[in-house]
Amino acid sequence: MRNKKLIIGNWKMNPVKAALAKANFLAIKKGIQTAKNVDVAIAAPFVYLSELSKIVSARLSLAAQNAAGEKEGPFTGEVSPDMLAACKVKYVILGHSERRALGETNELISCKIKATLKAKLTPVLCVGETDREHGMWHLSLVKTQIEECLAGLPKTVVKNLVIAYEPVWAISSTPGHKDAKPADFEEMRIYIRKVLTDMFGGSATDVTILYGGSVDETNAAGFLIEGGADGLLPGRASLTPKKFIKIIEIANAIR
Ligand code: PEP
Repeated sequence: MRNKKLIIGNWKMNPVKAALAKANFLAIKKGIQTAKNVDVAIAAPFVYLSELSKIVSARLSLAAQNAAGEKEGPFTGEVSPDMLAACKVKYVILGHSERRALGETNELISCKIKATLKAKLTPVLCVGETDREHGMWHLSLVKTQIEECLAGLPKTVVKNLVIAYEPVWAISSTPGHKDAKPADFEEMRIYIRKVLTDMFGGSATDVTILYGGSVDETNAAGFLIEGGADGLLPGRASLTPKKFIKIIEIANAIR
């Protein structure tokens, strides 16, 4: 169990201008100076990481939105976890549904997780079903995602894992998206912990489990308190510093 909530803002392919990325990062950094009970990171596009690495602080760190499953070599267009580490990146989002939609398989995500851990970065494995229209399908799908993505990892690295449950049907950019409820998250959080315990025994209690899917300042407290989330992965709301700072203030006030 982590002491501090973890909030990672996923900027996705935004903003288009580097100057705005820097300005937003600085505004967030300033706005969360007193939020001592929260670990905060921004998952910025690759091209901004180097510049933003110059202005990270003890309270605001950097995340990447993807990484290669290899250290170096002939992999055109890829960015290795070692390169990210050199840009002071701390967390790497892997297996996001928007990347799975481009064809990423659990097998590939598993390679990326191993490479990320080797570079001493924290993988943030995204799991989640596309809909809830097939009985208990969402549970078995998430179980398979976790089992296949984390296959072969030694128990000793489990404490460094973060899992983000992001039901695709609740992500703000999903056409006709619906709001997930804290109870939806709570059910899955308990289930994910069980799947992890079956795989890794007692070490599973150290895995951080986040919720993501249209998180904003109006529903953050519900997912953190009623849902029991260890933290949150807001996408759209992280693009507006004021909204993102508010989410962090809410998390900071929870004991
Ligand atoms: C995401 O896709 O990671 C996400 C949670 O986005 P949003 O908050 O915009 O739904």
